[in-house]
Amino acid sequence: AASVVFDQVSKIYPGATTPAVNDVSFEIDAGSLVTLLGPSGCGKTTTLRMIAGLEMPTSGRVLIGGSDVTPLPATERDVSMVFQSYALFPHMTVLENVSYGLRFSGYPKREIATRAADGLALVGLTGFEARFPSELSGGQQQRVAVARALVLEPQVLLFDEPLSNLDAKLRRRVRDEIRELQQKLGLTVVYVTHDQGEALAVSDRIIVMDRAVIAQQGTPQELYDAP
Ligand code: ADP
Ligand code: ADP
Repeated sequence: AASVVFDQVSKIYPGATTPAVNDVSFEIDAGSLVTLLGPSGCGKTTTLRMIAGLEMPTSGRVLIGGSDVTPLPATERDVSMVFQSYALFPHMTVLENVSYGLRFSGYPKREIATRAADGLALVGLTGFEARFPSELSGGQQQRVAVARALVLEPQVLLFDEPLSNLDAKLRRRVRDEIRELQQKLGLTVVYVTHDQGEALAVSDRIIVMDRAVIAQQGTPQELYDAP
């Protein structure tokens, strides 16, 4: 697991008149789960995508594990992202989906099989290898997406609104599963949500964003106690 640092990062999309992210600085400790919380349009996803290397800052620096990765594309960062819509390949089985990223990594076949089996065991989906995504519930699809990201053993794992496609009943369970897995494996997780209750429940620290800047940050306790 690695730390993530933003040093005065701004992002202005081409043609935009105002920045999506405006001079934002923060430090996320290695092995912690930090939530980016705020209303739609405040810059959470843009921040997450700049950690992943899917968007480049207009100015400022991004450091992962103490190294300046600002100019590096996503493929050269040790970061995995779980998307809101899971983005599973519908024509591939669960096992093929989970193995997909590993197949390009040059690992021997046996290592890929072991890692994929371990990843599915971690999310409780042993026995589902031959199913297709359409044969799974929303919660199970989400777990496949988490397993697919985990098997790459990234330094940083990113979640973009991971519960938004789940029904209310499943949300709490998947939320708690993500937190348990993060603590068990000592992962650095950056977690985007607009739901305050969700943020308070899973986070070591919360970074509250509002209109492209950080409005406040602290532990759930500190923010909950704040006037
Ligand atoms: P979110 O769930 O983060 O609020 P949105 O629904 O706002 O996401 O955006 C969905 C997609 O559209 C994202 O890939 C985002 O980058 C893109 N997008 C959002 N706003 C704009 C915009 N003004 N111009 C172009 N693309 C946009
Ligand atoms: P959030 O994730 O908090 O909903 P975003 O980071 O998606 O916020 O968006 C922040 C701002 O940047 C919004 O005004 C949005 O419309 C704009 N935006 C997001 N993606 C794009 C894009 N690809 N092109 C242009 N504007 C975008």
